[in-house]
Amino acid sequence: MKVTVYSAKKYDQQAFSRWADPKLDFHYLELKLSEETVSLAADSAAICAFVNDDLSAPVLTALQAQGVRMIALRCAGFNNVDLDAAKALGIQVARVPAYSPEAVAEHTVGMMLALNRKLHKAYNRVRDDNFALDGLLGFNMHGKTVGLIGTGRIGKATARILLGFGCTLLCHDLYEDAELKQLGARYVPLPELYQQSHIISLHCPLTPETRYLINVDSLAQMKENVMLINTSRGGLIDTKAVINALKSRKIGYLGLDVYEQEADLFFENLSEMVIDDDVFKRLLTFPNVLITGHQAFFTEEAMQQISQITSDNLVAFDKGTASGNELC
Ligand code: NAD
Repeated sequence: MKVTVYSAKKYDQQAFSRWADPKLDFHYLELKLSEETVSLAADSAAICAFVNDDLSAPVLTALQAQGVRMIALRCAGFNNVDLDAAKALGIQVARVPAYSPEAVAEHTVGMMLALNRKLHKAYNRVRDDNFALDGLLGFNMHGKTVGLIGTGRIGKATARILLGFGCTLLCHDLYEDAELKQLGARYVPLPELYQQSHIISLHCPLTPETRYLINVDSLAQMKENVMLINTSRGGLIDTKAVINALKSRKIGYLGLDVYEQEADLFFENLSEMVIDDDVFKRLLTFPNVLITGHQAFFTEEAMQQISQITSDNLVAFDKGTASGNELC
């Protein structure tokens, strides 16, 4: 089966050639999927897409007209897919629901530690032979209250690490996790989580309900100097409201692995380009902001699981069987 892989980087090709079924005929394109690039998937029965590919109704309609019958997402989130349109067009969409949630959880906690202990500054200082400690004062994680919004696979893996540090955990989710409660986490309404938490970390999906969950109102309820971490999806945060909260010192630390306009920036080397996103560039001016370019998932273990499960989804479709990972 011919599969056109959009947004394909060298590391994607390496992972598929190591771990995917060799019978699948992958054609790699560096380009993102969009209305302009959809024709490049001609003759493919399936395409493989990633987080910033455009899977809106017009693109899906064009894919279907070319004979594409299956979309294999090589990610967990599917907020970029118009599932109703895919269903109506008879296109199957499958994803990789779980791949090493620890990869994202460990990056999340890594961001907390880096911001708290100012490792990003210390790294540069020591390279400059500057061994002064002024400005590097941190706080103990032990005993701090961390609010987790979303306690699915990644939220739960993050919770386990933080419990090891001796943090108090306040959680919010549509469903309570019995195991987390047994471990000592407490589920609370969002206002209580906002008011009590020293650190707030987002692990819920981007849906119409969670879009701009972090906004002027929710920020107003948080502690002064709060640490906010988002490794989930950029659209959970109203970035302009967050910039104002950084300026007023309401937010003391901000860690982002995702950004609402990341599709124009992330996964590319733009170091020779002029970036005209003034909101993003303003974020980079704050000394207490740490941004990574959607790399939380990027471990050897996760890449192995992503390519194996994507391959299994494609093979199941080709055989006419169910993988269990179908969204429609
Ligand atoms: P999951 O489905 O296992 O868990 C999501 C949890 O969020 C569920 O428990 C769900 O009930 C909860 N939830 C849904 N709506 C909510 C709401 N309105 N309020 C509170 N909780 C709500 O998903 P996961 O595997 O833990 O992934 C979480 C998110 O992380 C994904 O949606 C994806 O966007 C993001 N992600 C990011 C990366 C990265 O590299 N940065 C990698 C993988 C996933």
